[in-house]
Amino acid sequence: MLLLVTACLLIGLVSGHYGWSLAIGLGLYLAWTLKQLLRLHQWLKNHQPDEAPPDGRGLWGDVFDSIYHLQRRDQRVRGRLQAVIDRVQESTAALKDAVIMLDSDGNLEWWNRAAETLLGLKTPQDSGQPVTNLVRHPRFKEYFENENYAEPLEIPSPINDHLRVQLLITRYGNNEHLMLVRDVTRIHQLEQMRKDFVANVSHELRTPLTVISGYLETLLDNVEEVNPRWVRALKQMHQQGGRMQTLLNDLLLLAKLEATDYPSDSQPVAVPTLLQSIKSDAKALSGQRNHQIILEADDSLRLKGSEGELRSAFSNLVFNAVKYTPDEGQVRIRWWSDSQGAHLSVQDSGIGIDPKHLPRLTERFYRVDSSRASNTGGTGLGLAIVKHVLLRHRATLEISSVPGQGSTFTCHFPPAQRVSSSRPAEPTTAKPLGK
Ligand code: ADP
Repeated sequence: MLLLVTACLLIGLVSGHYGWSLAIGLGLYLAWTLKQLLRLHQWLKNHQPDEAPPDGRGLWGDVFDSIYHLQRRDQRVRGRLQAVIDRVQESTAALKDAVIMLDSDGNLEWWNRAAETLLGLKTPQDSGQPVTNLVRHPRFKEYFENENYAEPLEIPSPINDHLRVQLLITRYGNNEHLMLVRDVTRIHQLEQMRKDFVANVSHELRTPLTVISGYLETLLDNVEEVNPRWVRALKQMHQQGGRMQTLLNDLLLLAKLEATDYPSDSQPVAVPTLLQSIKSDAKALSGQRNHQIILEADDSLRLKGSEGELRSAFSNLVFNAVKYTPDEGQVRIRWWSDSQGAHLSVQDSGIGIDPKHLPRLTERFYRVDSSRASNTGGTGLGLAIVKHVLLRHRATLEISSVPGQGSTFTCHFPPAQRVSSSRPAEPTTAKPLGK
């Protein structure tokens, strides 16, 4: 530019027409600039992905060079990113577990090869399809729509009933879902074997035990014919035989509860009447210990489910409250409903439980104090039964306790599980399961 202006001024000096020579010079420069701009425009519009920008001189040459360097750097970065994406895709494709990406509406976006073998997804036909259309198990639909993915879900594979898959959903980004699916057939089979073993052993032990208990009872009935040295031993054997029978019954009940996911019957259960009869049984259990048992129940509130199972669960809670509350103590049973659903709480003024035990309380055979538990005649399975029954009724158990002051066990049933009617409940006759 400086050269051009100097040249124009020199020509102006020679010819004496400064103005004209400057105007012609600047005009020429403008025309050249426009031409370069046009070349750049043409290149930007039509260039192939890897085509370099046009050559140029002066300022325009620098501009074209800078664009060229930017383009090369961009290509290198893109190449590196593509390599990373290829590696991620290759490794996820090689995974034995299925990885499925869903958009915020639950439609399929991307999946790896294992998703095809485990869930039968088809590439590319199924892309964009709602996942609930392809995995049609009712529990999956419920799990997916509830949007509570804290626990994984186990269901049979949609393409092969012998395959058992475990699904775990994680939300990320803009409410998109990442679904991981594992083949857990072997673990499921082992678990099944364990359940069958416990159920079979309990079942097989029941008959010999009934015979032994029967003979002991006959001997004790004719106690005068028995050598007095043996009476105490016989009484203890009879008592321990009784404990073993309760234990086997509880184990069999647990095995039965574990066999299916949901209760076999789902009838409206008259919970207030059920609680009334549990209260009478609790009074009988309390006997001379003279507990004060209070029942406050919403008479119109009924629950969908299995009456026998609910009786087992509720009576376990109420009997525990009686067992672990000192003489003359108070047990308060409440049955009510609110916007969150239906609730049953059993509150006692008993010995309470140290908070450190609470998370493990529903485990089988878990006892806070085993020496005390054996005195109460408990099996250590009561709360495990409660947990299973509640799980089958889509309910949860909440335990709160202050040592020395008492405990409250509350069952929370979701709104869908209750049946509200103004009609008084029918009298109930169901026996607790397995008893
Ligand atoms: P168990 O047959 O021994 O009562 P459970 O499974 O019913 O077995 O209860 C497990 C343990 O939880 C009991 O051993 C007891 O220590 C404790 N527990 C249960 N209910 C109460 C309660 N209402 N108050 C205090 N401790 C309780």
